[in-house]
Amino acid sequence: MWRGMFGHADRGLVRGGTLGTNQRHRKGVTMTGRERILHLLRGPVAARIRFTFPGAGGTVTISPVSFRHVANHIESGHISIVFTNALPAGVGGQYISGTPNQLMVQPIIGRVEEGLILHECTHAVFDVTRTPVVANDDEAASYVVDALYFRMTGLRHPRWNVISHARAGQVADLLLKQYAEGTHGIPAVDPTAWTVLKATVMFRPNYRFGPAGLLGTLLGSQYPHDG
Ligand SMILES: [Zn+2]
Repeated sequence: MWRGMFGHADRGLVRGGTLGTNQRHRKGVTMTGRERILHLLRGPVAARIRFTFPGAGGTVTISPVSFRHVANHIESGHISIVFTNALPAGVGGQYISGTPNQLMVQPIIGRVEEGLILHECTHAVFDVTRTPVVANDDEAASYVVDALYFRMTGLRHPRWNVISHARAGQVADLLLKQYAEGTHGIPAVDPTAWTVLKATVMFRPNYRFGPAGLLGTLLGSQYPHDG
């Protein structure tokens, strides 16, 4: 389903120049954009991303299998990838639940785009696993994922230090501290940093009047999670 006028348009990254192309050579084989996305989802960085957060209906987990699950859905055609230059200005990507589900991304893929793809794929995780998550949590968790990716790949701040990403960066830093300390199992987000991030998302202009905004959150609005 198209999210229409309430569509979650994921804006807000200051681009720091072109970081890569949609084709990379590996062992003499050219990887297509689609292959690179599958590689990203099954790669070592995505496999380190893990956390829990307090959802309205109980604890929600992003685990190392979450992104592999999305990769399988892409391979099966349950999620189709649409490369487009037609995303509105400042929009990093979109995930549209429907038949098939669509992951819309820019054709040029560098580290910034990879982080944003993981953001959109977090929305996909909740959709394909039919996890009941309110839109505000859905959005906040997706920001935590891109922030973790940016941190773990050493992307410098000026390229992504827009407020929602920065607030997510604070959640990510506290998770990375737990990863480094070898915290057993899947660590929980810091409650204070998580609350600040959720409030930031709630009042961002592009989310304020949609499901992830204040009214949407009070109403318990969700993005479609119909698999
Ligand atoms: Zn989003």
